[in-house]
Amino acid sequence: MRIALLPGHAETKEGSAMVCGHFKGFGEWALATWYLPRIADGLRSLGYDVVQTQRADAGGTTPSYSAKAANATGADIALEFHFNSAGAKASGSCCVCWKYSETGRAFARELARGMAALLGIGLTAGGVIVQPSDEERGLMAFKKSRMPFFMLEPCFAGSSATDCQLFTHALLSGEWTNKMPAIIDRCIQSVYSHNN
Ligand SMILES: [Zn+2]
Repeated sequence: MRIALLPGHAETKEGSAMVCGHFKGFGEWALATWYLPRIADGLRSLGYDVVQTQRADAGGTTPSYSAKAANATGADIALEFHFNSAGAKASGSCCVCWKYSETGRAFARELARGMAALLGIGLTAGGVIVQPSDEERGLMAFKKSRMPFFMLEPCFAGSSATDCQLFTHALLSGEWTNKMPAIIDRCIQSVYSHNN
């Protein structure tokens, strides 16, 4: 099974920024670009074919280009890594997915639960945000991708100091990169058939 890993957003338009600690000011793109090679290696050691790509590889910065870039890899599933931002009190993990796939929603829920357990926080929006919805959130990535596409929002590191501290700790201790591959693997095994 081939997995495409993407950082959210783009170097020229980084999305939200970490609000505190060691990575303060790091945008979503920069942070994910920093840690994704290690998650890719972890998934490879579990037997997956992993391709890293990003919106800019397809020539743009919007979610349409996420779909284009992911489609170009021929991957069976695509995961784009973000972090959330809202009011200072917002907290929790969630995963954004295509509304019309029950399997996709199940995968998103499992993945959000895994991230929440890893970081020691709760779920926001029950762990799953579907697109299309009233709140436009990367819709074109889900609409134009030819594989199940997911946006991971592990926490509100872009607005909550508490979430940001927990995420920073998981990143610096290596927990995030060491444990996410097994969490992703478990979700794939439980929801999708696994053909290496
Ligand atoms: Zn984002």
